[in-house]
Amino acid sequence: MEVLIVGAGIGGLTLGLMLHRAGIACRIFEAAPELKAVGVGINILPHASRELCALGLEEALAKVAVTTREYCFYNRFGQFIYSEPAGRFAGYDVPQFSIHRGDLQMVLLDAFVERAGSGKVITGWRCTRVEHDGPEAIAHFEDVNGKPLPSQRGSVVISAEGIHSVLRKQLSE
Ligand SMILES: Cc1cc2nc3c(=O)[nH]c(=O)nc-3n(C[C@H](O)[C@H](O)[C@H](O)COP(=O)(O)OP(=O)(O)OC[C@H]3O[C@@H](n4cnc5c(N)ncnc54)[C@H](O)[C@@H]3O)c2cc1C
Repeated sequence: MEVLIVGAGIGGLTLGLMLHRAGIACRIFEAAPELKAVGVGINILPHASRELCALGLEEALAKVAVTTREYCFYNRFGQFIYSEPAGRFAGYDVPQFSIHRGDLQMVLLDAFVERAGSGKVITGWRCTRVEHDGPEAIAHFEDVNGKPLPSQRGSVVISAEGIHSVLRKQLSE
């Protein structure tokens, strides 16, 4: 069995790490020619950090993130409204992290490449559509200039393309 994952964002890379841990082969195809640390600050809440810690990433995340102690809310005049402890400070058994999305993506990418091998993340391959062929799935790709690339066969194709997914659009047509 080989899983083809489309998109090397937060979801695709996390899925790749989980499949690798389960002993299921996968390759991740990413449209961008190079993976760069882009994005804004996000919070990884305990239900999500539990999964990432179970993948052995707590130490790597703690190095690049703020281990969140509390949330504080203020009104537009800067007057304090409310605060609440977060992560381990709130009694969870895992931390909450405040982290730049790009830093999170790089932690996931580094771990996936180290565990699965650099050849398992293929950049510059934009998936255009998928189709069934008996028990297999075929994913079609193009390069950054729109030139077709060789189609790839897998047991299953999983879209992790984010909010502008072409595969979701294809399946909803
Ligand atoms: C301002 C802002 C703040 C946010 N704050 C939080 C927060 O505090 N906490 C939180 O949990 N979430 C937060 N989010 C949401 C979080 O960033 C997203 O939910 C998350 O990045 C989505 O992950 P994803 O893997 O689905 O998509 P993405 O991370 O967007 O990755 C999709 C990847 O697929 C690639 N791709 C797209 N189409 C194709 C294709 N056809 N073929 C090949 N590759 C393709 C893209 O290049 C990209 O690398 C925030 C989002 C924004 C915008």
